[in-house]
Amino acid sequence: MLGMLLILVHFTEPISYYLYLRNRKLNIEYINNKYRNISIIIPTYNEGERIKEKLINVLQSYPLDYMEIIIVDSSNDNTEEIVKSMQIHKLKFIKEKERRGKIYAIREGIKQASNDIVVITDADAIWKDPLINAIKYLGGNIGAVSCIKHANSNVENSYRNFYNIIRIGESAIFSTPIFHGELTAFRKDIITPEELPNVGADDSTIATLVSLKGYRAICVENMRAVEIAPRGLDYITWKTRRGSHLIRHFTRFLSKVIRSKNRRFKGIFIEEFYLHLINPWLLIIGLILLSIWNLYLLIVLFSISAILSINVKFREALRAWLPNQLFLILSQFFALRGEVLAWKKERK
Ligand code: GDP
Ligand code: MN
Repeated sequence: MLGMLLILVHFTEPISYYLYLRNRKLNIEYINNKYRNISIIIPTYNEGERIKEKLINVLQSYPLDYMEIIIVDSSNDNTEEIVKSMQIHKLKFIKEKERRGKIYAIREGIKQASNDIVVITDADAIWKDPLINAIKYLGGNIGAVSCIKHANSNVENSYRNFYNIIRIGESAIFSTPIFHGELTAFRKDIITPEELPNVGADDSTIATLVSLKGYRAICVENMRAVEIAPRGLDYITWKTRRGSHLIRHFTRFLSKVIRSKNRRFKGIFIEEFYLHLINPWLLIIGLILLSIWNLYLLIVLFSISAILSINVKFREALRAWLPNQLFLILSQFFALRGEVLAWKKERK
């Protein structure tokens, strides 16, 4: 029976959180639709294949007069050549002597930024909306803005839809502790480069630091981005590497968040900590207990989910959910290795 109970909690907890957040709308006092000067930072490591499409996308997303582009590059491919051949108006190209990891590149980029609003974006991300949709929120008590995500595969997308609604709901309540590398826009008066620790999850670290300072870090619905997901074995490496970045993120900040005074952010952070570090174990332990003590119940459980799987939506959700729980557990073991700052580039 304990096994059954654990499995029940494993599914009802996130579903309740989802239902609780589902219909929340962002309420914002501060919106500034005027174009302001921004600095866009793109860290690059061997992005020769992608950088041109990326820059075209960035250049079309905001008026040129208002943006400076900073590329911090540690490539040993033709990235630099391609960037320079594009003759971009306000470009700072910083070549790193050696590859030290994305976080070093970002810190360098922020130091070189001439404007108060900084936007960090990965080379393998494409924005689907004009950047003003995100920038307009920066000001007042909003310290940072990120996008919502769409993927290029169906399974990845059904998982995405669930998480996008959670991100938006958390943003409506106060802040989300999870940001996306596709777009991390923030105010330099709130976060300085020196404050950024050596982490893999730079995006979520910025969101959490901003929130700990009492400002909001929000994901907005009208700013969508697509990231290309790797296939095959690299998909697994990718999921677990990023999972372990997030796991380390949650353990790193837990005690600071608990000691902080912001009750709304504390609640959100602890819920996410639970979802990433504890909830996956309930499923695994529950299944193991059932298979040891009560094979009969396990069969009933599988039959029920097989019947429910006739519904396409349910089937897709389950197909995305189950591997993700396993990835999260694997990620916890990988996280024990310590912080990985310069990772092997996955094939996309
Ligand atoms: P993921 O988005 O977390 O899966 O990581 P990616 O491998 O896509 O990297 C995110 C961004 O950081 C991309 O634009 C990379 O080119 C860039 N990047 C990754 N590692 C380094 C590095 O060591 N130095 C620099 N300058 N950029 C890096
Ligand atoms: Mn990426």
